[in-house]
Amino acid sequence: MKLIILAAPGAGKGTQAEALSKHYDIPTISTGAILRKNIADGTPLGEIAAKYINDGKFIPDDVMIDVVKNRLAENDCKNGFILDGFPRTIAQAEALDASDVEIDAVLNIEVDDSKIIERLSGRLECKACGSSYHKQHKKPAVEGVCDNCGGPLTTRADDKPEIIKSRLETYYAQTEPLINFYEQRGLLKKAVGQENIADTTKVVLEALEA
Ligand code: AMP
Repeated sequence: MKLIILAAPGAGKGTQAEALSKHYDIPTISTGAILRKNIADGTPLGEIAAKYINDGKFIPDDVMIDVVKNRLAENDCKNGFILDGFPRTIAQAEALDASDVEIDAVLNIEVDDSKIIERLSGRLECKACGSSYHKQHKKPAVEGVCDNCGGPLTTRADDKPEIIKSRLETYYAQTEPLINFYEQRGLLKKAVGQENIADTTKVVLEALEA
């Protein structure tokens, strides 16, 4: 299964990618997580990424295309993968199309804007392993501590209200057109995001396996 997950920020891409990764036993390639790790490690890629992420803007296409091509060439991607956060622009989708990677399906998770803002403002992320939580909808067993690795939970720098607005504007201008792009190629599967994470996973699996 070579899968792309589309959807606005906060629609539950990362959470559903985690569930699908377990279900299909394939890795999730989260470009946001790769960039945040590079920022934390102070790498040259991290230095470039920080300039854009902190304004709610996208990292340039040529940089992202290189990052993803290199990651997909690694051994663990041979039997399939889930792309979470790539492609995010038509140029990125065209680069993927032109490569020798054959995508099986593109999943769009549909969630209303009002819900998205509520979800992003309550979101927490593990600083150590990147797992995602929510102050109301996905609480960890112990407050402030990651269930998976025991790392500390923090609010992402780009989940501040003023940056959320800019991220949504960037999404509608640059990523939403990908829905048509993949619909025209017959790859698009749609799932309506539910209140509950497990219910969304059920709807997502039904859409993928229909
Ligand atoms: P995410 O964790 O997917 O919400 O990504 C966080 C941020 O990383 C985005 O708001 C962008 O600034 C940047 N980013 C992640 N993936 C991409 C991409 N494919 N193209 C450009 N910027 C990206």
